[in-house]
Amino acid sequence: MAIGIICAMEEEIALLEQDIQSADSTIIAGRTFIQGTLYGQEAVLVMSRIGKVAVAVTTTLLIERFHVSQIVFAGTAGAVAPELKVGDVVVANQSVQHDMRPDEELTFRVPLIEVGYFQSDPELTQKAFGAVEEYINNSLHNDIPQQHLQQFGIRQPKVVVGTIASGDEFVCDPAKNTWLYEHIDNLKCVEMEGAAMAQVCYEYGIPFTILRVISDCADNDTPFTFDSFIEGAAKYFTRGSIRALLQA
Ligand code: SAH
Repeated sequence: MAIGIICAMEEEIALLEQDIQSADSTIIAGRTFIQGTLYGQEAVLVMSRIGKVAVAVTTTLLIERFHVSQIVFAGTAGAVAPELKVGDVVVANQSVQHDMRPDEELTFRVPLIEVGYFQSDPELTQKAFGAVEEYINNSLHNDIPQQHLQQFGIRQPKVVVGTIASGDEFVCDPAKNTWLYEHIDNLKCVEMEGAAMAQVCYEYGIPFTILRVISDCADNDTPFTFDSFIEGAAKYFTRGSIRALLQA
């Protein structure tokens, strides 16, 4: 059975779209699902668009219509943990919807299913961690043009495993960033899709993991635009990590 690969934005998925072979495209609800062979594995590639609803619909379609056996999300995120810099990568061992607050208590539990922190598949997460490490150590410096690495201040990035928080908000406020760090267990970074995909996968019993390269520091203080980062760096991280993962 195929593995599902989701990215939120066109720039992030562009290089994977170039590399997928014997591809067959199907458009559903405005999303193009590309089925083919990616780095030797049967895969379905899709751009979800941005936000929790967008990725929930996309994940459901991947499972219901394409019968994927596992799903990996790859994209960018704002750093929350102080040890993280632009170019570092976070692999989620769990994810949480930071805007899910059904009561005063900050457990972020999704009512009725009563889960707040969705657990990624441990094996897939470990494999993804190793794949990102391999990309960073063996390929990154030949893959991303040197001038881009300089522009974004990327030297020798690190990869960490921890919690990813998702919400329908681009976080660029230091106060919000601090609030998230203080209230979420082992939080590394913030983005807009991962935990919504995680909820759908949890409900269907599909193994998944999430990879995020840090594009900004969620604090309004990043010295380049988000758009320049996804075009100049994120797309390479996405391709490099997914390639290493599928070839592992
Ligand atoms: N600028 C675009 C929206 C980009 S949203 C527009 O106006 O249309 C940012 C995307 O990158 C989302 O897919 C999200 O998952 C991720 N992301 C990166 N940094 C983030 C941050 N600081 N807060 C939230 N999401 C972030």
